[in-house]
Amino acid sequence: MHEPPEGSKVSLLIASPFKTQLMRTFYIFYLLGAFFFLWAQPTQSVDNFKITVLSTMLSDFYLGEWGFSALVEVDGQRLLFDTGSRENTVWQNAQQMDLDLNGIPHVYLSHNHADHTRGLLTLKKTYPTSFGQAHVGEGIFYPRPNEQGEAHYLLQNKKRLEALGVRFVNHNKVSEIIPGVYTTGPIPRVYDEKNWSRLGKLIAPNGDRIEDTIPEDQSLFFDTEKGIVLISGCGHAGLVNTLTYIRSILPGRPIYKILGGFHLLKLSDEKLRWTASKLKEFGVTYFVGAHCTGINATYSLREYMDLTKDQVMVGSVGTYIDGEGIHPGYME
Ligand SMILES: [Zn+2]
Ligand SMILES: [Zn+2]
Repeated sequence: MHEPPEGSKVSLLIASPFKTQLMRTFYIFYLLGAFFFLWAQPTQSVDNFKITVLSTMLSDFYLGEWGFSALVEVDGQRLLFDTGSRENTVWQNAQQMDLDLNGIPHVYLSHNHADHTRGLLTLKKTYPTSFGQAHVGEGIFYPRPNEQGEAHYLLQNKKRLEALGVRFVNHNKVSEIIPGVYTTGPIPRVYDEKNWSRLGKLIAPNGDRIEDTIPEDQSLFFDTEKGIVLISGCGHAGLVNTLTYIRSILPGRPIYKILGGFHLLKLSDEKLRWTASKLKEFGVTYFVGAHCTGINATYSLREYMDLTKDQVMVGSVGTYIDGEGIHPGYME
């Protein structure tokens, strides 16, 4: 630390012994701050993982729907990512796949839309010991009224869910959800991607009625020996924005495997080419485009990224990724 200029108010106010004490206190706080900063940063890497799609449009033997959900299994722990669109889809698909969803304390909700959240009531009722903690991004409960009234499914059902034992955990920054698995929290919109179908309005905390850019949209990620794995629900924050943010959190690591809904459907060819070039920059070598990614958009990305059919595919219900690659199931 440098000395304050001689004769300045600061040096007059701080007598010598007190100055030493102050510096010591400052130093201790500095060290504590550095410790908490490192502690909050994702440093833990994951050994084994499996992510299985439980809700998306395409399906072979299970129920398909416009929605998204996936079961995340990491080093012996499990977490449910989103809950599908219809109340019973994820529950029925899990039963048909022989997946027991008991004993899963955490459910992760990527954003407020009902095609990702409507299954939670049924799931909480069916598995009362699971899903006690619902991880949401800051802003998810901002009201979204339209001409018919409140259009926000999760807000309408918040009290019912809480009465069943769901506690909402709010994230406004990068946080660890289960060991080694992190949420981005709300994602800075560096690029003007605008990956959503139409703009509604939301009521901000100050009462202003503003454009609903789905500010709470968050994604889940973890690091492995080969690189980072990313799971996205609808990608409203923008896929490139999401990857850019994760790169700033874990600099120098490739983001090599990504799965989920990325809302690239109806993107212009020019924007798709730009997205593909960015994905290559980040090190993406496996891509499962489910839900709102778009079938043609997925195939275009495969072509523009010069990857194979084993590396880029449209996800169906039952598709899973693990440390090996992508397992598409019966429907390749
Ligand atoms: Zn959405
Ligand atoms: Zn969606």
